[in-house]
Amino acid sequence: MLEAVKQLTKEIQGQLTEQYPFLSQWDIGFDNAKKRAGICRINEKKIAISRNHINNNSIETIEDTIRHEFAHAIAYHLYGETGHGKSWKKVAIQLGAKARARASFNLPKAPWVLVHRCPETQSIKLLSERFRRNKKIKNYFLSGQPDTKGELYFIKHTDYLEFAQGKRKQKALNFLQ
Ligand SMILES: [Zn+2]
Repeated sequence: MLEAVKQLTKEIQGQLTEQYPFLSQWDIGFDNAKKRAGICRINEKKIAISRNHINNNSIETIEDTIRHEFAHAIAYHLYGETGHGKSWKKVAIQLGAKARARASFNLPKAPWVLVHRCPETQSIKLLSERFRRNKKIKNYFLSGQPDTKGELYFIKHTDYLEFAQGKRKQKALNFLQ
């Protein structure tokens, strides 16, 4: 898949460079980002597409991401615009990209969720999704509530979703610290 994407990226860059010669100075690479599909680094003239994105999405979606990022490069060169403003939208549409800040794509789910479990009621409250399990979680507490120290736990994200959907009992959750 990565080879196919590399090839596609080269083709798109080649086509666009005919109209926008400054794009020949741009480097297109790959990174391991987990929370975004691609990034356009204006100052470094670099575009990076996430390998995670590539592994989780169709070639059409990846092509959309590539065009999305090239639209940033062009909007900056021609109009000095960064972000997803008017000029970027105009260019994105012209390039055949969906002119949205975030296209709909699948990103791998964070493997963990962080929850607070009330020691009295045993009720659990979802705090956030996490990509890593913090080893010092025992020492953490809710912001401004030091008496909740030691009440924060990690649960496997998939287990938590089953629990939230009523398919798993709380007893069957593994609370990790
Ligand atoms: Zn963007």
